[in-house]
Formats: sequence, C-alpha cells, structure tokens
Amino acid sequence: MKYKRIILFVFIISIFIPTNIYANNVLNIKIDNKNMQVNKVNVKVDGEILKVDYTAYTIDGRTFVPIRELTESLGAKVSWDNKTNSATIENKKQSIKMKIDSDVIYIDNVKNTISKDSIPKFATYSTPKYETKTMVPLRFLSETFGYSVFWDQESQTAIVTTKEAKLISQETSESKTNDKKEIKVDSKTSGKENSQKKAAALTINDTKNGIIVKPKKTDGFRSENELKQMKELDKAEQLVEPQKKRNISKTLKKKGKVTIVLDAGHGGKDSGGLSKDGYMEKVPTLKVAKRLSEKLKGKGYEVIMTRDSDVYIELLDRAGISNDSEAELFLSIHFNCSVNTEASGVETFYASEKTVGIKSVEQKPFAQEIQKAVISVTGAKSRGAKDGSSYLVLNKTNTVAALVELGFLSNLEELDKIKDDEYIDKLVEGVYQGINNYVDKYVE
Ligand SMILES: [Zn+2]
Repeated sequence: MKYKRIILFVFIISIFIPTNIYANNVLNIKIDNKNMQVNKVNVKVDGEILKVDYTAYTIDGRTFVPIRELTESLGAKVSWDNKTNSATIENKKQSIKMKIDSDVIYIDNVKNTISKDSIPKFATYSTPKYETKTMVPLRFLSETFGYSVFWDQESQTAIVTTKEAKLISQETSESKTNDKKEIKVDSKTSGKENSQKKAAALTINDTKNGIIVKPKKTDGFRSENELKQMKELDKAEQLVEPQKKRNISKTLKKKGKVTIVLDAGHGGKDSGGLSKDGYMEKVPTLKVAKRLSEKLKGKGYEVIMTRDSDVYIELLDRAGISNDSEAELFLSIHFNCSVNTEASGVETFYASEKTVGIKSVEQKPFAQEIQKAVISVTGAKSRGAKDGSSYLVLNKTNTVAALVELGFLSNLEELDKIKDDEYIDKLVEGVYQGINNYVDKYVE
C-alpha cells in the first residue's frame, strides 16, 4: 500500500518538476513485481564513496545497498543460501542472518525482528544491465556491527564510520611521513604497532564505559601480532559482555533519587532529519530535552544531559556518558523523517534484553509507558513501542533505555505542530508522564 502511495506521489510531483533535474536522483527499479521510482543515494564508508555498479537508494527514509558491495566494504563475509533466499553476513564478532521478504533476523543465532521498512528485498535494475540484486538495510547492518551511521542531507549521503578505520588512516599518513622506499617495511611495521597500541587504548577506554568497539576486519592486513592482539581484545569483551545466562529483572531497585540521562538526538554538524523547508531535527530534540529536564528536576529526579547546546556528540559517547553515570534510565529524543510524506505519528524503541547481553532489566515496559503517555496527551497517531535493538544508543547503554521518535518532520501537518511551542509542551508533558508512570510501576 505504501509503495502505491509513493508511486502516486512521485507521479504527481513529476508533473510539476522538469524531468531533467528530477531524473538525476531517481532510479527506476522493480521490487515485489512493481515498478518503482526511488531516490538514489551515495554511501561513504570511512571517508570513501562506496563504488557500486547498482546504486544504493532510499525508501521510506531507509537506505538499501547491494549486499556484496556493502559487506565487503565493512570487512564482512557473506554467504548466500539459494534454497531459503537467505544470507549470512559475518565479521569477526558477529553473524547476522537475514532472509528476503522476512522481518525475522538472527543476530548471533538469537531471533530478532526488524522494522517492516528495513526488510531485505530483491530489486531488479535495468541499468547498467538488467539484473536482480539483493538489497539490505544499511543502518541496521552497520549499527549491529557497532558502527555509527549518519545522514548528510545536502549530499544525500549515508556516512558509515568504523572507529578502527580512523586508526588505519592515521597509520597510512604516518607511514607516508617516513622515508618512503628504503624502509618501507619497517615503517609499516611500526605503524602497525602504533595502531595496535591505539586500538588497545581505545578498546580499554571504551570497555571501561561498558562500550565495545567492534574492530573492522581487514583481510590480509593483519600480522600475527595483530591477530594475537585481537584475541586479547576478545577476552576483554567477554569480561564486559558475558554470554552466560543472566537473571533478567522486571523491576529496578533504587534508593533515593532516580537518575535519568536525557539524550537530545543529533547536534552540531549532524542536523538529523530535515524538513522540506529546512527545519532541522537537532532543534526540537534539544528543546524537548531541556524542558523535560526542568520538569523532571522539579519532581526530584537527577538529570544528566548528553548535550545542552548545539554540539556534535558521537553515538558511542552518548552511551558512554550514560554508562559512566549511575543512571537508572536513558532516553534518547528524536523526530522522524520519511520520503513518504503521509507517514505520521509517534513511536518508541527499546533494545530487547533478549538480544542485548549487557541489559539486566526488562526494557520494553519503559518504551511502552512513554509511548502510551505521549499518545494520550498529544492525541498523535501511535506507531507503537518497537524493538530497536540495532540502535547504538540503546544497545550500548546498560541501563533501561528507550528512544522516542516524537513525530515526522516530513509530514507537513505534523511539522507545523512540531514548530509550535505549545505542542512541544504537550510532547514534553507526555514523555514526563510516561517516565513517572514507569518509575511508579517498575522502580522499587
Ligand atoms: Zn534522529
């Protein structure tokens, strides 16, 4: 149904827009036996544009990339099962099994579901050749592997950063500054050693926060020493993220004040979603977080903000702020964007303790309470409380955590409301009531 609407929408606007401008970004493909026009997008992995014969595209704000090209650039391997139409994507740390047209996904053999708009699909291209490609959701895959993804609206580029890649590029520039020809081997070795030290420092630092950096696998690039180092890192990870049976509690125990981390989404160079008239998601997320903070403090909560001004903060650092504190709750605040301008409403995500090993308390009730209260105060359309186990701020925080999407900047009606301070107050009131309801029911 959604796709029909998109086609109708594309048809209508294509009447008004000269085709030569429009055709630049648009790709004609066939999905589920329907001809579709989708937006072409670029994908950058660690600063390099991903070279693909068959272009990546977005549908409903989700970026899809041909499986092989993407997984290779992320240093992962993919194996394909023709009988079941399923693919297993593996890097050194994790395996993800996904099936065409299915929302069931296995992460390290644990069953999980992804949202309907991220389901892997076959797409038939007519250029450069007539060919059917397996398309997988970029954000889901990257974030499950522990990489951060952000969207640059201006260049229509999805940017994936793997932390390890930064180290590799530093190494490259270090070797360059050394004498090039004669001591090439030596300088490379010392570069590697440097990078090992940095990798170790980074990992130790990050595991202290309860954050695990998933190193990128670079085939044929690792020395024996590096492999040894990787094994050491594995051990360090196991200490932080034990895979043995955990006791999952339904309630949180707390003496005295409840501490909550409020995470205003995006900020600085990362504007987040963008409305057609240029309203940036990072603005209302901060507004909501600030007002909510005042309200919660008034009620006796301890509040920690990941940002209280327009600054850029890495996703892993946001989770780190939470893990370094003694907070019981973590809430990330966002607004949605979609190419489907009819999409509207509020949704709240959580990372199920069933898939995320560092959680010791049931996660869904917090998201449900927030979702329920925001809907009841604002009257917005409910899109539900959903599993968002692939979100870094949710799966790297060891607290009870949720991420709320408070409405669509891409929907003109909803955008008007979001720009209105009285409506922002309603959203704040809803989230505030949701937090209180959760604390009343689940915090002892
Ligand atoms: Zn956002």
